[in-house]
Amino acid sequence: MGARLAACLRLVMLSIALPAFAGGATTPTEYRTTLYLFGTLMEITLVGVPAERAEQVTDRLEREFQRMHRDWHAWKLGELSALNARLPSGEWIPISPFVAPLIAHSRPLSRLSNGLFNPAIGALVELWGFHSDELPVGKAPPADAIRRLVAAAPGMDDLELADGRVRAGNPAVQLDFGAFAKGYALDLARETLASLGVGNALLNSGGDLCALGSAADGPWRIGIRHPFQDSLLATLEIDAAECVMTSGNYERYREDQGVRWGHIIDPRTGYPAAEVASSTVVHAQGGLADAAATALAVAGPSEWLNIAARLAVDQVMLVDAAGTVRVSERLAPRLTFPAGSQPPVLVALPPSDTPPQP
Ligand code: AMP
Ligand code: MG
Repeated sequence: MGARLAACLRLVMLSIALPAFAGGATTPTEYRTTLYLFGTLMEITLVGVPAERAEQVTDRLEREFQRMHRDWHAWKLGELSALNARLPSGEWIPISPFVAPLIAHSRPLSRLSNGLFNPAIGALVELWGFHSDELPVGKAPPADAIRRLVAAAPGMDDLELADGRVRAGNPAVQLDFGAFAKGYALDLARETLASLGVGNALLNSGGDLCALGSAADGPWRIGIRHPFQDSLLATLEIDAAECVMTSGNYERYREDQGVRWGHIIDPRTGYPAAEVASSTVVHAQGGLADAAATALAVAGPSEWLNIAARLAVDQVMLVDAAGTVRVSERLAPRLTFPAGSQPPVLVALPPSDTPPQP
């Protein structure tokens, strides 16, 4: 997006213009900016930061996010798409310290998810038509093309990373970090905020969000969107460094005569995961929560708890295609469901032999 358009889309507003006084204590000011990033609106809220400083901070975040958007993009011009073009050669390719961590950090998550989260399946995602700003329409891709890509079994372990270079031992590897990059971007943005002395902030990108500290008047109040309705499924409060990431096949899909093929692909079959409407993960790490939410959407109602245990995420929720809501015991007490909604099914996670992710 051009800088001018980005500037036009940038709406700055001071949500609480004046400090309020309650019982002698001062409520800090909230500064809120909405940016157009990663193809969606990102709302940045900073607490207790004077307006001029807050503008500098959000400018810095915006520059960093724009670079991520360009160089982490699977198919638009930038470092990752250039890398993808060269990966099938099997040669060593230089990789920058800006892109290499995506591979390094997502690889162990891919392993732990038993390959259900697999950023190496970019070719399948493209085959289904999701490497486009427009939603694809029309028949599913030919079954034999899907079968060929599944049989080629591209995986993150096919990549070798060494000395600022990378090479793929499997020519079918095409990297698409769509399931991980937003959460990881929010992790890096929180590091930037912390380095700039901002301790209370909320970064909310279309409902996927990470928080630092708390809001001006107490914990952050967060809404989790409903996969079938234009309303909230549940709300929760956050007053620590935590992220809430939701995956859903309702977000992006390919429509064919009333049939919707979602954008989350099951790497085992090559077809979109169809049993789950949405999956939500609450965790301190955005990248992990993002990858896990995608993995749980692929795993489906019969397997999701095992995959959650393997990934050591224990605050999880799944809405299946029939609308049944399942919530883990650790997350359930934190959620408030709208009055009159069907009570969720409480579920226990199996014991995990994976050490908890920090
Ligand atoms: P998310 O919304 O985080 O679940 O990410 C979905 C996006 O990740 C899709 O639009 C694809 O670009 C990519 N993707 C689809 N299926 C997978 C998968 N099984 N593993 C990793 N990335 C995937
Ligand atoms: Mg994800």
